[in-house]
Amino acid sequence: MTDLDQFRSETRAWLAENCPPEMREPLRSEKDVCWGGRNYVPSSPAQKDWLDRMAARGWTVPDWPKAYGGGGLSPAETKILREEMAAINARNPLNSFGISMLGPALLKYGTEEQKLDHLTKIAKGQIRWCQGYSEPNAGSDLASLATSAEDKGDHYLINGQKVWTSYADQADWIFCLVRTDKSSKQGGISFVLFDMASPGVSTKPILLISGNS
Ligand SMILES: Cc1cc2nc3c(=O)[nH]c(=O)nc-3n(C[C@H](O)[C@H](O)[C@H](O)COP(=O)(O)OP(=O)(O)OC[C@H]3O[C@@H](n4cnc5c(N)ncnc54)[C@H](O)[C@@H]3O)c2cc1C
Repeated sequence: MTDLDQFRSETRAWLAENCPPEMREPLRSEKDVCWGGRNYVPSSPAQKDWLDRMAARGWTVPDWPKAYGGGGLSPAETKILREEMAAINARNPLNSFGISMLGPALLKYGTEEQKLDHLTKIAKGQIRWCQGYSEPNAGSDLASLATSAEDKGDHYLINGQKVWTSYADQADWIFCLVRTDKSSKQGGISFVLFDMASPGVSTKPILLISGNS
């Protein structure tokens, strides 16, 4: 038996024991999707158990380093885990823009302090993120963005408006593109992370004709 065969059989056994039967059922509604975050209310005890068990093993982000809350798995092991989860119809334990969008950028460009702080909270589902790129006058042409960030020494003062920010009303933190230099259109765009509970941050829904947003 190769190491990967061994890993597959151990993974299969662990999933059989730890993935609650309810977490192998198809999603019935958006409420069944686990996004985590400060205000996370589990849709059922099984959903919380599944998140906690997978997070404890680092398997919400299996290929991230263990130091940042990941599973430290190789690409081949990660593929096996995904296959074994699919084989029992296991739900994704944690949906997260932090995992799919912010995490990879932080892994590559973040400081050690940023990685230790933000990545571990993403992996455990403790902080929910939203993406603040689009603006009323900057969509496909993102370099038109006008939201500014002014360096005030010990903090940045951010002024502007974002739009289409999915789940902004439910997110704890935002990864946001802002202009720190106005001398060129494509240059001077910075990537800042801030708490949505910071003073001055507000969200409002774009209401559809159906009444949803
Ligand atoms: C479901 C959904 C969720 C989203 N969530 C987020 C989010 O969380 N955060 C975020 O920042 N953004 C989000 N967006 C925004 C999205 O990623 C795009 O940036 C945005 O929809 C495009 O901008 P716009 O709507 O202003 O369209 P525009 O950029 O104004 O484009 C309008 C039309 O013109 C076309 N067009 C534009 N430029 C050219 C060109 N040069 N040549 C030819 N045709 C062109 C486009 O293809 C399009 O058909 C979301 C969008 C959707 C639909």
